Amino acid sequence: MKVALDRKRCEGHGMCETAAPELFTLDEAGELIAHFDGRTIPAELEEAARDAVRVCPVAALTIEEEA
Ligand code: SF4
Repeated sequence: MKVALDRKRCEGHGMCETAAPELFTLDEAGELIAHFDGRTIPAELEEAARDAVRVCPVAALTIEEEA
């Protein structure tokens, strides 16, 4: 699976970082760095990725299941 970040929606709340710090980091400017943007999430981080998608208050993250 992959997780897509919609930067236009993201408001830098950082809930995704709390849920999945291996996947998301807010930089000093409040910009979200998505470490696996466009790449397949490692299996051991999939659950954390789903948690991050669930907690984002503005639905800026979307799961993309791969075949
Ligand atoms: S929780 Fe959502 S709005 Fe907040 S930083 Fe993460 S993606 Fe952006």
